[in-house]
Amino acid sequence: MLYNGLRNGCSIMVFYVSLACSLLVSDIAAAQVGDFKQSTHITLVNFLTGRFDVENAVEFTKIGYPYAIRPMYLRSDTFAAFKSMRAAALKDGVNLVIVSGFRSYNDQVRIWERNYKRVSLSETDVSDRVKRILYYSSPPGVSRHHWGCEVDLNSVSPYYFNTTEGKKVAKWLMTHAKRFDFYLTYNEGRLKGFKSEPWQYSYYPTASKIMSFFRLYISAVNVDGFKGSHAVDVAKILDEYIIAINPEILKRMQLEGKIVY
Ligand SMILES: [Zn+2]
Repeated sequence: MLYNGLRNGCSIMVFYVSLACSLLVSDIAAAQVGDFKQSTHITLVNFLTGRFDVENAVEFTKIGYPYAIRPMYLRSDTFAAFKSMRAAALKDGVNLVIVSGFRSYNDQVRIWERNYKRVSLSETDVSDRVKRILYYSSPPGVSRHHWGCEVDLNSVSPYYFNTTEGKKVAKWLMTHAKRFDFYLTYNEGRLKGFKSEPWQYSYYPTASKIMSFFRLYISAVNVDGFKGSHAVDVAKILDEYIIAINPEILKRMQLEGKIVY
């Protein structure tokens, strides 16, 4: 009941300082964050690292079939834009389905550890294991999926995007997604960062706002609680992976005067 009261009562946000968080977010941070809205009961750092109760986060919506392969959460603004894009794609005979949206810190721990187990079969050195996982996956705490405005569409298998159907989906998205403010996050041809992922799209209006401040808060964050975490260098990953996204996104941000810190 209390949460319902909070949900209904809060619209614009001063950040509520939780006793549990490691880096407290003050009014100064809120000013730097500008017009970015966030639930009062989630601190900024906890939000950026996926450490909050998404069920009670006001900006998030629970989604499911036919939009997603299973119940999951997404930012409401991102979901609204996705629904428009999906309707347009359906008219062209392309069925877009979200296979991954918001992920919590713990969700990312599960993905990371699954990969860790797999790469441990071939890599004995911990830092080599981390490097291998970083081909496609972020360590918990620095995944853009924590933001709730990234979607993996249809499949996270490169093989799918080589099938006739996968090629059609990728082509449709490359041609039309930008009309709906979705940008391919990890395009081909970048010199750094994750390998190209034809499935991950970023909802620009929200993701660009988050990108304009997130490094200020995340660079000092420790990530732990998962295998190999001691070999994860957050600052390096932010510079070499998280920031190494589709240059079209960065260019648009620059044109709009958004600085990536
Ligand atoms: Zn993804």
